[in-house]
Amino acid sequence: MSLVLKTSNIKEEFQIRKGIRTLTLKALRGVDLELNEQEILSIVGESGCGKTTLLRVLARIYEPTDGIIELFGKRIPKKLSRSKELEFRKSVQMVFQDPFASLNPTKKIEHVLKRPLKIHKIENEREVIESVLSDVELTPTDNYLTKFPHELSGGQRQRVIFARAIITKPQIILADEPTSMLDVSIKSGILNLMMKLKEEHQISFIHVTHDLAAAKYVSDRIAVMYAGIVVEEGNAKDIVNKPLHPYSMLLKEAAPDPERNSAANMLDVGEPPSLIDPPPGCPFEPRCKYAKSECKGPVGFREVDGRKVRCVLY
Ligand code: SF4
Repeated sequence: MSLVLKTSNIKEEFQIRKGIRTLTLKALRGVDLELNEQEILSIVGESGCGKTTLLRVLARIYEPTDGIIELFGKRIPKKLSRSKELEFRKSVQMVFQDPFASLNPTKKIEHVLKRPLKIHKIENEREVIESVLSDVELTPTDNYLTKFPHELSGGQRQRVIFARAIITKPQIILADEPTSMLDVSIKSGILNLMMKLKEEHQISFIHVTHDLAAAKYVSDRIAVMYAGIVVEEGNAKDIVNKPLHPYSMLLKEAAPDPERNSAANMLDVGEPPSLIDPPPGCPFEPRCKYAKSECKGPVGFREVDGRKVRCVLY
């Protein structure tokens, strides 16, 4: 399986004002990830763990403070010429969380889909549009092209957004919580669509979610993020069925389960650390029931049963 995207030691810091002081918020503190061809990698974690920041860095919305991003084996420089930037945007598309805010309410779906074709000078507009609408299962085409976004359901809008994303034939889609604002009954349809696009269009996905069940359903691999770093990474089913890192265990415990008391489903054992002054050792130490003195020092990855775990227990 060939590598399509690789990050090495990605850091992202934001300067924030507090009164007369300027503080540095370390949103990403050294993230190494690899995405293979035709693979879905889900990044899972609580809000504030850095997963959306990472996606925005990968989409070149944010410039990383430090680190290297390689696309198809080539390092992406900080500054790209206009033509290289267009080439990047053609190969790497983004799907945002909110299908209501992602479409211009004043434009019909036909306009939404024609725009990337114009930007990337793709010909045979009608044929291409019919083909992508069929790929995302919005047919007959004419029923959708003349509609405004408000005339579609949330699920249909998210399918239009996926149609817009695949219209340039990207190799990678960065999907930021694509199902979090949809009803439960519609969610599985969008996850199935992602798997279909992976198989039929050979697209690789980085899928950001806080929903462990969705990650298990759709992913080949999962990376669990906590306080700006990856703490466990490996095969999706292994991580969900038998998490090794205590934070992954807590995430599994917190996932909704109708067979358990909902009170037990809360992430109620403390808060993530401040990213303004994160602890030098394991960031999960203040919440971890297995913590010991060595957890206060730097904790690197261990290889355990084919996965990587950042914990001294292994
Ligand atoms: Fe817990 Fe220590 Fe492992 Fe961190 S390194 S998760 S504190 S046992």
